[in-house]
Amino acid sequence: MHIPGHLAIALVQHRFPILSKDKNALKLLLLASLFPDLVDKSLGYGLRVMPNGRHYAHNIFSLVGSTAFITAVWGKESGYAWFAGYSGHLFADRSGLVPWFFPLQAYNFTKGRLSFDRAQLFKEMLFLLLAVIVYRLAPS
Ligand SMILES: [Zn+2]
Repeated sequence: MHIPGHLAIALVQHRFPILSKDKNALKLLLLASLFPDLVDKSLGYGLRVMPNGRHYAHNIFSLVGSTAFITAVWGKESGYAWFAGYSGHLFADRSGLVPWFFPLQAYNFTKGRLSFDRAQLFKEMLFLLLAVIVYRLAPS
């Protein structure tokens, strides 16, 4: 999934009652929805530390560890928002390889490159537009 799809999912998640109480929840949801790609694509495609863009931040340990950190620093409500946004990203990526248990489990990381599927990007832009409209119309 590309950036618009991840952002659309985060917007929809913000309408869940448990996530709409905290005023910082939306910012954390949006940031967490992009965080795995920001980290892994920067390391994989920018710095070339890994052969592709899903490894250090696309696993259960990064999800739990970063959620524990956010909860310890900003509290339980923020931790819920971070967990929801982050896990939403990982589940949305599951059409491809998500190394859920990296580094404890070995994965065959094939060399990849940053690419965008135009048709998928267009669909996700429509999804984001729809999510923004619904978000704006729904009572908060
Ligand atoms: Zn991703």
